[in-house]
Amino acid sequence: MQEAATYRLERRDDEARFGYAVGPHSWKQFLFPPRVTQFRAERREDGSFEVQEENGTEAPLALLGVRSCDLHAIAVQDRIFLGGTYSERDYAARREGAFVAAVNCFEPGGACFCVSMETGPRVEKDYDLALTEILDGEHRFLVEVGSERGAEVLGELPSRDAERADVQAATAAVDRAAERMGRTLEADGLRDLLASTLEHPRWNDVASRCLTCGNCTLVCPTCFCSTVDDVNGLGGQTAERHRVWDSCFSVDHAYIHGGSIRPSGRSRYRQWLTHKFGTWHDQFGSSGCVGCGRCITWCPVGIDITAEVAAIRASDAGAAPTTA
Ligand code: SF4
Ligand code: SF4
Repeated sequence: MQEAATYRLERRDDEARFGYAVGPHSWKQFLFPPRVTQFRAERREDGSFEVQEENGTEAPLALLGVRSCDLHAIAVQDRIFLGGTYSERDYAARREGAFVAAVNCFEPGGACFCVSMETGPRVEKDYDLALTEILDGEHRFLVEVGSERGAEVLGELPSRDAERADVQAATAAVDRAAERMGRTLEADGLRDLLASTLEHPRWNDVASRCLTCGNCTLVCPTCFCSTVDDVNGLGGQTAERHRVWDSCFSVDHAYIHGGSIRPSGRSRYRQWLTHKFGTWHDQFGSSGCVGCGRCITWCPVGIDITAEVAAIRASDAGAAPTTA
């Protein structure tokens, strides 16, 4: 059960294996982990250094149970890390050859709004296999093949051809999920709305509740900000560089030329929301939100991004100038 600032495990009274909405962590933890070592340096006896780069993974990843919203989030991070002039080396190594077994959602959570963001609940592309769990009658899975590798894996499993009733039951399960979204968000025109409401009083209102803890950015499957930690051995013989997650909610993340350009909670929350739904379009050609609802569930004070957007949309005419 998920709601604003609430996540509860509840035992089901059936055999469902995927009878839950997205969990606390997204696949970001495997493709873009919170901390990775980028390189190690060791001093040789002659005083020079030997530098060793780290490789992302030793074996290809297999991601089992990826929901449609998270598939869209992976596509967003692919654009960020692989779609520009330079690739992120560690991300590229982890992403290369990753096998994706997706699962169609049939049990959305109270914080979900993928229908509003047009990212789910039906899995449509970018998978090797797509499963739909069917609980009506015999407990079974309808499997769709999305690649040759997917066909190979399916060939190793006991299966039978799907019948019309299987397809109808699977379609109905996902249709029911689409009708039971916990939340909605009106995304049309949001980029322009946010660009014109940077001085809206709602930014002060949300800032009075926000702890600037950064939880929302850590659980968000599309957030990609990072910084580096340089760690030196006490003996002066070794050094390592670590890439670690950072957040637009940390003051230091916006530290430029002797000061932070976002000193207040108001300016940092506004940066988070206007980037997600506004300037992300200019930067990457899509929204930065896939409607997974994690930032709502895991905000310790229950700030709901859909409610914040709705409040600004409802009263954008009342926007009044305020200071950062
Ligand atoms: S902003 Fe919130 S709802 Fe949107 S993708 Fe990130 S965590 Fe999910
Ligand atoms: S919106 Fe919530 S989760 Fe995000 S920084 Fe503020 S208090 Fe933390």
